Amino acid sequence: MADGTYDVIVVGAGPGGLACSARLAHRGMRVLLVERSDHVGGKAVAGERDGFRYELGPKLQVPAQGPAFAELFAELGISDKLRQITLNGVVQAYRPAGETEYRMNISKGDQSSDGSDQFDLWGLDDDERRRATEIMGEMVSLTGPQLDELDDVSMQQYLERFPDIPFALWNYMGLHSNASLAEPFDRVAASEQIKILQQLAFQGGAAYYEGGFGRMLDDLAAAFVGLGGEVRTGVAVERIDIADGHVTGVTTPAGTFAAAAVVSDAGIQPTVLKLAGAEHFPDEYVEYVRNLEPGWGWASIRYFLSRKVLDASMAMIYSDDTWYTTERYDRLRHGEWDDDVIVFLTIPGNLDPSMAPPGKQCIVSGSICSPDPEAAEIEEIYRRIDATIGKIFPEVMEAVEHRVTEGPREVSRHTRDSAVPGAGGECVGIGQIVGQCGTKKPSPITPVQGLYVCGADAGYEGMGTHQACGSGMRVAAVVQERLAQAAH
Ligand SMILES: Cc1cc2nc3c(=O)[nH]c(=O)nc-3n(C[C@H](O)[C@H](O)[C@H](O)COP(=O)(O)OP(=O)(O)OC[C@H]3O[C@@H](n4cnc5c(N)ncnc54)[C@H](O)[C@@H]3O)c2cc1C
Repeated sequence: MADGTYDVIVVGAGPGGLACSARLAHRGMRVLLVERSDHVGGKAVAGERDGFRYELGPKLQVPAQGPAFAELFAELGISDKLRQITLNGVVQAYRPAGETEYRMNISKGDQSSDGSDQFDLWGLDDDERRRATEIMGEMVSLTGPQLDELDDVSMQQYLERFPDIPFALWNYMGLHSNASLAEPFDRVAASEQIKILQQLAFQGGAAYYEGGFGRMLDDLAAAFVGLGGEVRTGVAVERIDIADGHVTGVTTPAGTFAAAAVVSDAGIQPTVLKLAGAEHFPDEYVEYVRNLEPGWGWASIRYFLSRKVLDASMAMIYSDDTWYTTERYDRLRHGEWDDDVIVFLTIPGNLDPSMAPPGKQCIVSGSICSPDPEAAEIEEIYRRIDATIGKIFPEVMEAVEHRVTEGPREVSRHTRDSAVPGAGGECVGIGQIVGQCGTKKPSPITPVQGLYVCGADAGYEGMGTHQACGSGMRVAAVVQERLAQAAH
């Protein structure tokens, strides 16, 4: 704006900030989006190198059908830009407890299986198959109010209600809490995990985007600009300005910008404790924010290969004893490692061939870890990811030209300041931790008039990018309504 004033300033161009900005601009608001990195996209930013395009860590969209982005893109009239891709080949490498060899299962990954090949992989007998089917049936049949009652119950506690649960299903749910939600089994809320299981079952499983998540978010940013929105990348908000309990704008090295409302996608803890400053909030609110438990992080390795080695678009390597509870992870921190780690990997070039140079391949892999940017065990996790992949797919390691790691330290540096000890490298955000999601999710409305929080920390549910986008859309509606009320 020529006069330097806006209706709304959005801090951070992650999926949440982008969704919020675009929806507000579409509804006629004057919006400034300020992003400290050189690129929009936050934790879902596109990476590029030597003709490859990829995500910084392995990434898929859940739900495939009806993600929040579909609603937003339809509202903006740009549905043609979403361009989803169905998975085309999933490898599972599974090692039962006490065995040394992994069993392999290769499926299409397109929801065509009736689940029996999964039970075959786990080696379930008829009784176990029946019981596993009953328990999974019960989970996917839970209603909204029944799920709300599980906001305070961890997935581990929920499954303890089924003493006869087949051992392999119990372990698979532990893996799922780690791999899909990036949380340990005993800290993830059963409600959040089961909502995602329901989406996987009834909304088409997982999907990807042509050109990757980064391309899709770049198109969202372009649509925002097309609607009159202004984006400033490479500009960090140093302070959210507040006077007399009301937001007045933001201060950046590029100047001070005024607005009646500020929406922050920078994380609730950095927003309240650092950017705005605890002195502007009631003590009990500051205490509440300080005590929010960070979600867990992700230690990723990208392997750039001299040749195309794998045909699958996604793979999971897991066993009955390598997924984490907090206790098992604590043991590892004290040097008690299992041989392998769980590994989840995607191959963007096998989903969209334009994402890799002809004949080459980039594998984006990773394993759950602490969100602490200073966590000492991350280097050992990288070594064990290498070793675990090398055991299952030795031909991958033989073809590696470059290997790039990206863990909680880098995630924090790129996207989220560490505002409380041990936090900053969260994969999802405040995420899906027990007691902090669903009905207990932090409100996007803060006690400071005109200051809101959007993204994976507030106001929505589900897997990371879906959650952030849904939150951004919801917060945009709240802000618009409140600004309209204030104007009357
Ligand atoms: C390795 C990894 C794998 C993942 N896999 C998946 C997956 O498979 N599926 C999925 O849906 N999700 C996945 N996620 C999670 C998903 O990417 C996040 O949940 C989502 O990006 C959160 O969006 P957000 O808008 O809340 O915040 P972010 O993406 O963190 O964006 C916040 C933005 O704010 C900016 N910012 C912060 N402070 C300031 C400041 N002071 N001034 C200006 N800008 C600032 C940051 O630079 C950043 O761009 C994954 C994440 C990681 C790290």
